[in-house]
Amino acid sequence: MKKVYSSYDSLMVWHLKNVLEIHGIHPILKGEYLTGVAGEVPPIECWPEIWVLEDSQYDYAREIIETALNSKDSPSQPWKCSGCGEEIDGQFTECWSCGKSHS
Ligand SMILES: [Zn+2]
Repeated sequence: MKKVYSSYDSLMVWHLKNVLEIHGIHPILKGEYLTGVAGEVPPIECWPEIWVLEDSQYDYAREIIETALNSKDSPSQPWKCSGCGEEIDGQFTECWSCGKSHS
């Protein structure tokens, strides 16, 4: 089992977990229940983490995460998902709720 990503931004962690699942990887989250008061950056040992069960999936998972992070545009407007109507932050290219890509 390997840790592939960690961030104080639990929304991003959830988003990347969903992206990994879309790609057929079933990651597990650790520590997401430890995030503190909204607006506060929790200490690094409390950051939510994404782990993959299979070490062989590590490289693939990292690749997906890098791609997802790099595809973040410079500050952009929130958009409304055409699949489920969810309001999505501009830095996400896919709906965290239903996984539909922003087009
Ligand atoms: Zn959606």
